[in-house]
Amino acid sequence: MTSHSPRFRIGNGYDIHRLKKGRDLIIGGVKLEHPNNLGLDGHSDADVLSHSIMDALLGALSLGDIGKYFPPSDNKWKNADSLILLSKVVELIKNKRWIINNIDSVIVAERPKFLPHIDSMKDNISKVIGLERDLIGIKATTNETLGPEGREEGISCHSVVLLEKE
Ligand SMILES: [Zn+2]
Repeated sequence: MTSHSPRFRIGNGYDIHRLKKGRDLIIGGVKLEHPNNLGLDGHSDADVLSHSIMDALLGALSLGDIGKYFPPSDNKWKNADSLILLSKVVELIKNKRWIINNIDSVIVAERPKFLPHIDSMKDNISKVIGLERDLIGIKATTNETLGPEGREEGISCHSVVLLEKE
């Protein structure tokens, strides 16, 4: 095998959490109100957007996934603020001398309406990553009532990131 040191690496991340009564609905560090008072269930705050971005960042450098760094078996991460977990992953990427070029994410959820909150989510992610807001794409789509997202059993998120060698 010939050695190859790419200047760019792409990463892909996916996450899904169950919707449940009695839990907060926190996405991109923003607390949303669900019309049926549903929130996302999980060990941490279950922020699917932050989690999928973390997995995309780790995946780009073949560093495994978030379960490896923040195992649910570790009580330290119980109800953890996922923006803090994201900041730890960003630190890891920067320590390896990679620059986060841009991020693009899509949240899959029937409700609530995301549009009024997208800018706040971008602001939160932008601050944590140290990346200009227009280099962060956050979109939301319904699943046309199909599948677990469509039946409001859960909310999922897909993210891609592009890293560039410093
Ligand atoms: Zn997650």
